[in-house]
Amino acid sequence: MALLLDGKKVAQKIKNQLKDEIKKYTSKGLRNPSLAVVLVGNDPASEVYVRNKRKACEEVGINSIYIHLKEEIPEEELLKYIERLNKDDEVDGILVQLPLPKHINTQNIITAIDPHKDVDGFHPENIGKLATGMKDCIIPCTPLGIWILLKEYEIQTYKKDVVMVGASNIVGKPMSLLLLRNEEATVTVCHRNTKDLAHHTRQADILIVAVGKPHLITEDMVKEGAVVVDVGINRLENGKLVGDTDFEALLNKVSAITPVPGGVGPMTVASLLVNTVSIYRQKHGFEKHPLTDI
Ligand code: NAD
Repeated sequence: MALLLDGKKVAQKIKNQLKDEIKKYTSKGLRNPSLAVVLVGNDPASEVYVRNKRKACEEVGINSIYIHLKEEIPEEELLKYIERLNKDDEVDGILVQLPLPKHINTQNIITAIDPHKDVDGFHPENIGKLATGMKDCIIPCTPLGIWILLKEYEIQTYKKDVVMVGASNIVGKPMSLLLLRNEEATVTVCHRNTKDLAHHTRQADILIVAVGKPHLITEDMVKEGAVVVDVGINRLENGKLVGDTDFEALLNKVSAITPVPGGVGPMTVASLLVNTVSIYRQKHGFEKHPLTDI
């Protein structure tokens, strides 16, 4: 039976540590760290994500500033909000919940965020620094969360064959860059045009899947004893939340696997808090947060 990589438990441990850390700062007279969360429109899934992120901020003592804008807001107006948040010294991190409405150019918005406040790590400057191994970048939250989770369970990436299924800007690409950062793992990246997906996934010592298709990875597609990280979040017609892998079937074949829910999701939120505190620390003359030191 596979070991369950319990993201919920590890995320709670991180939140407890952050809470204690923030208390130390405020007891010295410093203000609380703060995160501006911008939501455009009323997408129900985005509303749930934003609510969870803000709740997590509250739990640890991060002040969350919520800016909820109407769906029809013109891009120029949204850019003005970002500009204001960039200039506001009381704001440490800025998060714009994605996806944005179709009339807004997402890349323009991401690029407008001050890279030092870009808590999601999506700004081209941060991605470029991640790619070139510069240590002063902000690492995107889901890859950082996966990294911390693997380390917590002492799962080594050194000299491992890692297969990343999914090549999005927010998960697949930055995850691959993170794994390449110290030339530890050998990384294969698969996507919608990969010729023979199973051929690659069967080679993986560590298989990370971020596609958004339930049951994409079946038991015959994984190697005995592999470690599987399932990033996918899919809601079935019966309301059940599942990942991208055939979880029940994989349990008897792999050595470790993340459950959905309760795996990568809570780690992503915990990493958002870590990134916010890390930005705050550097603003106040401290080192970046040790969990981000990769
Ligand atoms: P995306 O739609 O931006 O990218 C999907 C990727 O999968 C693309 O690179 C595409 O080429 C690839 N793909 C599509 N079909 C494929 C196939 N048949 N075989 C191989 N590759 C295929 O998605 P995303 O934003 O990266 O998110 C992926 C999934 O992860 C979604 O379910 C999303 O909800 C979830 N997600 C979870 C978290 C979390 O914290 N748990 C965070 C971000 C995203």
